[in-house]
Amino acid sequence: MGNLYVALGAMLQRLDMDYVIPPPTSQRTLALGVRHSPEGLCIPFKLTLGNLIEAAELGADTWLMPAGYGICRLGYYAKTQEQILQDIGYGHVNVVGIGVSQDKLSGLLRTVKSLSNNASWLKIISAFRFGLSKMSAMDRLERLTQKVRAVELAKGTASALLVQGVKEIDHADDYRTLKKVEKDYAEQLGQVPVDEQIKPLVVGVIGEFYVVLEPFSSFDIESELGKLGVEVRRSTFISGWTKLSYLFNPFAAKEKDRIHRAAMPYLKRDVGGDGWESVGEKVLHAGSYDGIVHLAPFTCMPEIIARNIMPRTKEDIPVLTVLCDEQMAKTGLVTRLEAFVDLLARRRRRDYNR
Ligand code: SF4
Repeated sequence: MGNLYVALGAMLQRLDMDYVIPPPTSQRTLALGVRHSPEGLCIPFKLTLGNLIEAAELGADTWLMPAGYGICRLGYYAKTQEQILQDIGYGHVNVVGIGVSQDKLSGLLRTVKSLSNNASWLKIISAFRFGLSKMSAMDRLERLTQKVRAVELAKGTASALLVQGVKEIDHADDYRTLKKVEKDYAEQLGQVPVDEQIKPLVVGVIGEFYVVLEPFSSFDIESELGKLGVEVRRSTFISGWTKLSYLFNPFAAKEKDRIHRAAMPYLKRDVGGDGWESVGEKVLHAGSYDGIVHLAPFTCMPEIIARNIMPRTKEDIPVLTVLCDEQMAKTGLVTRLEAFVDLLARRRRRDYNR
């Protein structure tokens, strides 16, 4: 999922664990996942199943997969995927479900402890902190990239720098190198030639966690919006998810509360996944963004609820819901984005002339 592999790899390496990183999510991953999944399941299930199969081909026999008693089907992923893998011939595999809904971060850390020959808590926390530092550095560079993409003169420059920066962060072995790499790439992004005259449209990208964070599942929608001169704002970053990161960054926890409070007049409780947050983000940002792109996996119940509530809020802002599944085609998506951006530009001109 996005650049998460860099942070987890750093953590497992520091704990001397033998780990496998599957190839980046690709058409092959999707084809494998689709072939072996029940048709009606959501795209995150299919893509992660494809990832598991590709990891099995590289020799992995144990997987860590979020699980728990949450309201959506994420809770069934680990068991269902283990069953499918065994059915298609990987009889020796073990998919370890991490109880993210009840245990959050402590569930992950306890599982890592049991798989790391009982490493000391000190070692585990220190390895986790290093992984989290890498995640935070990548997220900060990504935020910068979102701004530069919208106004850069040569389209694609900022995205290429980000890809290179993530590679170097992946190779950084200590805090000093990590800091230096981040500073270096932040400076390079700051020096990208831009059109100073443009006041870019601002579009929030919201929706289900996985499709928002894994570019393959949305045809890298943020880069496509950047090519159309749009500055993307996204409140979901992996480094903001963990409880421990809340300790280092109390703003992240407050932001989550703020989003829930904004949704309250329309939706008073968690409906699973990120449905509650999607409604809250629409309400919260109606006055500050030009538009919102809502990413929802096809058949995702929490986002279906959010999608039906959003048009009825009194806070008015255009929302384009994009349903992500294996049938989605890039040309169709780009055409819809172009029409949406055109609409937002006209709306801004109208408001300016009033
Ligand atoms: S939130 Fe939606 S897409 Fe994500 S796992 Fe749950 S049902 Fe599937």
